[in-house]
Amino acid sequence: MERKDAGGRKALVTGGGGFIGHHLINRLKQEGFFVVGIDLKQPEFGPTRADLFYQQDLREPISAYCDLFRGVDDVYHLASDMGGIGYIHSIAAPIFTNNMRIDMNVLEASRVANVRRFFYSSSACVYSEARTSEALSAPLKEEWAYPAEPMEAYGWEKLMAERLCEYYRAEYGLSTCTARFQTMYGPLGTWTGGREKFPAAICRKVAMASEGSEIEIWGDGEQTRTFCYVDDCVEGVRRLMESKFAGPVNLGSAELISINDAAWLVIKASGKRGLRLKHIPGPQGHRGRAPDNTLCRHVLGWGPSLPVYEGLGKTDRWVPERLR
Ligand code: NAD
Repeated sequence: MERKDAGGRKALVTGGGGFIGHHLINRLKQEGFFVVGIDLKQPEFGPTRADLFYQQDLREPISAYCDLFRGVDDVYHLASDMGGIGYIHSIAAPIFTNNMRIDMNVLEASRVANVRRFFYSSSACVYSEARTSEALSAPLKEEWAYPAEPMEAYGWEKLMAERLCEYYRAEYGLSTCTARFQTMYGPLGTWTGGREKFPAAICRKVAMASEGSEIEIWGDGEQTRTFCYVDDCVEGVRRLMESKFAGPVNLGSAELISINDAAWLVIKASGKRGLRLKHIPGPQGHRGRAPDNTLCRHVLGWGPSLPVYEGLGKTDRWVPERLR
């Protein structure tokens, strides 16, 4: 996207202390926005570039923080109780209630403040098991989210919040837009502690492994995913925000890779010798999942481009730095 000066526009990023939020704030600052970040926690991996950053629990009633939304042009709503497949399989009720509260509150605060545009970060987890039951399932078209049968509470909640955005758009005239993220990865993402996603987890396991040892993989490793580098994600979010399109639109790489092959890419990049994969029981989520990016290319004029071997290489260098 051609980078124009934001001309003093004010953006608010919820989840600004998290992975994608941190990168998005950097990008908005480069473009000249005045940026307000909100998160439950301070950014973990270095200072934020946000002009103002508030530590705030968005499950609380909006009276505690609706002032922060006053005068804001664009809201990027990324705050969420989320994690990798291990985390979202392990609990349902807290994930559902936490996220429903957060989403309802942030939408309402944005309506009250009459913001120009509202971005919602949905997920590929809204798609049903029936559409993702094969390692080589057909690329997911946006309309296939219905009839709805997401696998986890996390996916059900995302679908409900997508709907809520549509109702706010239709009934209150709030200009909402929604992207369904596939798995995003890159530096500054959670890489340990149980909430990390596969790319960061495999980089950590390989970094910690001694030569000749085993790397544990949940399931047979033949389940497939696509991994999108965070810079590509942020570019897509910015394009959607500057468009008039409401979505939902898939946002993610279309480069399908098995978990085994992705693990071998990281092992190869590490230069360590004699490592082996050990397949153990564990949650696997969808058997196979890739987005159909036709709509993304059509409405945003673009699709993610960084090949996974390059992006994983960058993450593979960043995680060992954390370990040191
Ligand atoms: P992240 O966990 O790094 O960031 C989310 C942030 O939300 C965290 O910093 C967390 O502290 C904050 N948060 C959680 N509960 C909060 C609360 N009650 N009040 C205020 N802040 C709270 O996740 P991310 O990878 O940056 O994801 C951003 C968004 O994109 C999320 O909505 C997520 O569901 C969605 N998404 C991400 C991916 C991915 O691969 N990263 C895939 C699909 C969807």
